[in-house]
Order: sequence, then structure tokens, then C-alpha cells
Amino acid sequence: MRTGLLEKPQRQPLSVLLILMFSLYLGLALITMFVFETITVWPSTGVALAAFLFCGWRIWPAIFAASLAVILIYIASLGQPFSLAESLSILLATASGNTLSAMVALYFCGRVTSLQLSFGDLQWVLKRFLPATAICGGIASIFGIGVYWILDIPWVEHYVTGVANWSVSNMVGALIVTPLLLSYWLKPGWRRMLNKVRWKYPALLSLLLLAFFLFGPGQIWLPPGFLQPALLLIPLLFVALTANQTFTFIFQALTFLLVWVGTTMGYGPFITDNPAVTATAMQLFCGFLAAVILIIQALLCEQRRLRKLWSSELLSNNRKLEQRVQERTQQLSEANRQLEQLSVTDGLTQLANRRRFDEYLQAEWQRASRLQQPLGLIMLDVDWFKNYNDCYGHLQGDEALRQVGKILQLGARRTTDLAARYGGEEFALVVPQADKNYLKQQADMLRMAFASLNIAHQTSPLGRLTVSIGVAVLVPQPHEKMNLLIEKADQALYQAKDDGRNRVVVANDAPLQ
Ligand code: GH3
Ligand code: MG
Ligand code: MG
Repeated sequence: MRTGLLEKPQRQPLSVLLILMFSLYLGLALITMFVFETITVWPSTGVALAAFLFCGWRIWPAIFAASLAVILIYIASLGQPFSLAESLSILLATASGNTLSAMVALYFCGRVTSLQLSFGDLQWVLKRFLPATAICGGIASIFGIGVYWILDIPWVEHYVTGVANWSVSNMVGALIVTPLLLSYWLKPGWRRMLNKVRWKYPALLSLLLLAFFLFGPGQIWLPPGFLQPALLLIPLLFVALTANQTFTFIFQALTFLLVWVGTTMGYGPFITDNPAVTATAMQLFCGFLAAVILIIQALLCEQRRLRKLWSSELLSNNRKLEQRVQERTQQLSEANRQLEQLSVTDGLTQLANRRRFDEYLQAEWQRASRLQQPLGLIMLDVDWFKNYNDCYGHLQGDEALRQVGKILQLGARRTTDLAARYGGEEFALVVPQADKNYLKQQADMLRMAFASLNIAHQTSPLGRLTVSIGVAVLVPQPHEKMNLLIEKADQALYQAKDDGRNRVVVANDAPLQ
């Protein structure tokens, strides 16, 4: 049954949560059993319930394992009053009861993701949380006492009293500890901290546990040969490898403190009959640990610095590379642009070449056909040019063609006009949206402009270099082809040649605007 509370996914990896919950459950149980020496209140139930409410059912392995560990330690501390089968039964029954009871309580409450939405809701507290703690205590106690009853092992009081006591101690533990823990975990600041610390708290808890067993009252349960002070290196090295310098040094100081307090209280592997020898052994051990951790953290710092340096160098190299690529790309696109320009330009006159002329005329033809607008074409040919070449040479002929190009370019007055070299000494001017009169004026202006250059031409009957021009204009009809316009202009040009050259002829049958 869910209560409809928001369910935010937990950002911490499950492994961290498992270790954290395991350590918390076990730590609180050990403190309750061996420091307070009472089980009238059992705070670990509160941990179990809070863990389930916070993390969901997936946290069960941590609670089950911690529960097993607690009962194992408890049975061991009793000095083996049970057979192996009895011990195993008690272990499994109690651990299962503890885990199952918290799972049932989770099912009853739904997951808690906001303090206001759950503990601030009277209905939820009355109808769900309070009964859930009672059910939780009840189930755990029935499992815990039930196994004694089944195995026929006497309980200190009556079984029923035992169930009642166990239930109440669990319920009280849950009532006090669950809201307390959740209020911390549900705070955004705590979540952020938990995200940041990741392994630090599990490391701290494992240090406390190790100190308890190696340098504390827990040493009596350690099997012979396990009293190894070097085990303390495990959390220390872990912290040195993962945490920052400050935390490492705090952790190291805490380790020394625990070793020192434990040894002073008479616990740990350094205890001998001679207090001076004990002190020296402890000092040497602490000195050794400190030196190892100092060296390792320094090495790590160096490594981090180098990595930073490499990554910054890598970054700057990347930037340079990117810049170079960008420059090359620009150069390439400029070269492409020039190439494109070259492919449509006539080398001698710098006018549009024949290819461009064909493309442009085709496009304009289609547009004029679509819009039913007139499209004009001026065809220009240099008179007696073969003779000019023969007389003055090809280089001078080229120069004359350049002059024609310049004048034609000037004649392309509107942005939509296109001046092109049609081939050899023949030129063309595409003039969209123009009427016959305008074209005629344009053509006359071109002819006169060229004649006024007064380029001498001995072998021409006209005595100077001149041009003949044919003009055609029409509104393209759907059944007509573009070549019709060229043919008309060409015919007019031939007519101009036939009529004696140095003149403009407008194609007769072109429709007037
Ligand atoms: P018309 O008045 O009938 O046009 O006589 P034309 O001599 O101008 O005509 P024709 O077609 O017989 O000769 C064209 C000449 O143009 C032939 C060729 O040598 C010359 N010509 C074509 N292209 C070039 C060029 O790029 N440079 C030079 N210098 N001459 C060229
Ligand atoms: Mg010619
Ligand atoms: Mg010609």
C-alpha cells in the first residue's frame, strides 16, 4: 500500500547505502548491548524502519546482515549455551523477523520522501506510522521469541511477557530513532553531504568497529590470530586514497586517539606486563602508521597535481588545434568560393562565362515564362576582328576584347542584368523585364561607347574597331524553348552585319511591350 507520497530516486549508489545502513544498525546495537548494557529500548529497529522508508525494499540485505551479525555477537557473548543447530535457528529466525517486520512496516507506510508530507501529516502519523511501529515490533518479537518456544528453550520470563517486552522495546526504538534519522536524511543539505562524502562515513564507522574489536572490549570475540593492529590500515588507506588531505589527517588523528585510549584502558595487542614496553610498542605503531599515510597522501597529491597539469596542457593543445582547424576551414571555404567564382568567370574579360550565361538565361527564361514578363537579350560581335588579329596580333586583339568586356559590364546597369562572353569575340547581355525601346537604347549606347574608344583598325572599311549588335525580346510561352531568344538575337546580329556593320538591329517579330 502506497500513500501517494512523492518518490524521488536516491542518488547515492546502493552499495554506499547498504554499507551505511549496515554499519549504523550494527553500531547502535553494539552500543546498546555493551555500553548501555540494556535492551529495554532497541534503537536498531528504528534504523531498520528508517532505512526501508528512505531507501525502499532494496536495503534488506544490509538490515538482514547487520541483524545476523548482532545476534551472532550476542550469542557469542553468552558463552555458547546453545547447540549449533539451535544457534543457527535463533540466528535465522531473529534476523528474518527483524528484516521482515521492517518490510511490512514499509508496506504499511509507503516510502517517505518529505518530512512535511509524512511526519507533518496527522492522518499519516496516526493511521500509518504508529500502527507500523507496533506491527514492526510485534512481528520481530514473534519471530525472536517464537524460535525459543519452538526449540523449547526457556525464556527468562514467560514467552508472552517476552513477546510483550520485545515488542515494546522495538516499537519505542522505532518511534524515537526513525523520525530522528529521517529528519536528517531528508534534509537537502544532508543529501548533498551524503553525495559528497560517499565513502567517508562508512570508513569512519568501520574504523570505530575495528577500534572496538582491536583496541576495545570487543577483542574478547576475536578469534585467536585476528588481533592484528595493521587492520587499521585498511580504512586509513582507503580514506587517504579517496578523501581530501584535511579529512585524511582528521581520520588519522582519530585513529591514533582510539588506539591510545584503548591501549591506556588496557585493551589491544600492545598490552604487556611492562607499561613502558606497551607505550613504546604503541608509539612505534602509531609512528609507522603516520609515516605511511603521510607518504601515501603526498604521493597522491603529486599525482593529482600532475594530472591537473596534463589536463590543462591537453586543454590548451585542444584549443590550439580547434583554432587551427577553424582557420583551415575558413581558408578552405574561401578557396572554394574563389574556385566557384572561377568556374563561372571568363578569364580574359572577367565577365560571366558561357556556362554561367546558359544557367542564368535558363533561370530567367523560366521565371519570365512563369510571370509572363518580357526577357531581353543583346548579342554583340566585334566587326572584322579576324583582320584585326591578323594586322595587330593576338595580344592586342585580347586587349580589344577586354575593352568590349568593360563597356558591356557598364551596360549591365541593373542587378538582374548579366554581361557574358558568349564565345570568341561574341558577347551577350541578358536583360530581364525590359521592353524593346529600352533594349534598343542600351544597344545603341554600347555601340557608340565602343566606337568612341576610337581603336584604330586599318584593315576595316570603317577605319576603327566597331561592334554590331542584334537585339531580341519576347515573353516566353510555355511551348517555346530558350534557344528561340538566342536565335532571334543572332539573326538580328547577322542582319546588322549584312546591313554594313557598326549598327544595332532589333529582331522584327519580337512582341512589343
Ligand atoms: P565579322 O565582322 O563578320 O564578325 O568578321 P570577324 O573577322 O570578326 O569574324 P570571324 O568569325 O571570321 O572571326 C573571329 C575572330 O575572332 C577569329 C579569331 O581569331 C578571333 N578570336 C576569337 N577569340 C579570340 C580571343 O580570345 N582572342 C583574340 N585575340 N582573338 C580571338
Ligand atoms: Mg566578328
Ligand atoms: Mg563572330
